[in-house]
Amino acid sequence: MFVIFKRKYLILCICVILCAFAALSVTYGVKAAAADGGRVVVVDAGHGGRDGGVTGKVTGVRESDLNLKYAFLLKASLEKQGFKVIMTRTTEAGLYDAAAALSEESRKSQDMKRRKEIILNSKPACVISLHMNFFSQSSPRGAQVFYNASNPESKKLSAAIQNKLNIVNGEYAGKKISNLPGDYYMIKCTDYSSVIIECGFLSNADDERLLLNEAYQSKLIYEITNGVLVYCFR
Ligand SMILES: [Zn+2]
Repeated sequence: MFVIFKRKYLILCICVILCAFAALSVTYGVKAAAADGGRVVVVDAGHGGRDGGVTGKVTGVRESDLNLKYAFLLKASLEKQGFKVIMTRTTEAGLYDAAAALSEESRKSQDMKRRKEIILNSKPACVISLHMNFFSQSSPRGAQVFYNASNPESKKLSAAIQNKLNIVNGEYAGKKISNLPGDYYMIKCTDYSSVIIECGFLSNADDERLLLNEAYQSKLIYEITNGVLVYCFR
């Protein structure tokens, strides 16, 4: 009887030690991944090349140029936090084969497929696609995040970023904005947690002026980074 009790006690002790060891390994693993830049984020600058996106009503700034500027700023900011950042484009060019005589439709399709390939090869913790918004009326303004409604992780990421961006929206646009489901290729083309951030409206003169302002750019990038941190380390 005594021997059986001791054996049971011994097995219990071994189980407790193994569980503690496993818990420690998981904790250490997460910290190690963060410290050596193990978490990958794909930063996608929307449009590019012959597809300039929308243009600023006042200055005529091209959305594709502004998206690239924001993508580089976000890359630097995320890298400071230990993330490894993969960009879908680092120049003004689109991702299509510029030398080939492709129709606009084929160019767009090739460009989108190549962005998708970059995401798949990167195996990222999340994907951030950066854009500037435009509306027929000039009144709408502020930064808004779109998610893939069929991916709960995409929704969580969008909520974390929108929550932080609303600090800036509250201060400058005088209102908070809701994250919304969006029917966009970039957030639906893979199962990775992906969002589109429309940083502001180039159809609104105040937003356009702010979106070109370096101090405002830093504020937006700071809050997007905070949102990614909240999502990744929640
Ligand atoms: Zn766009």
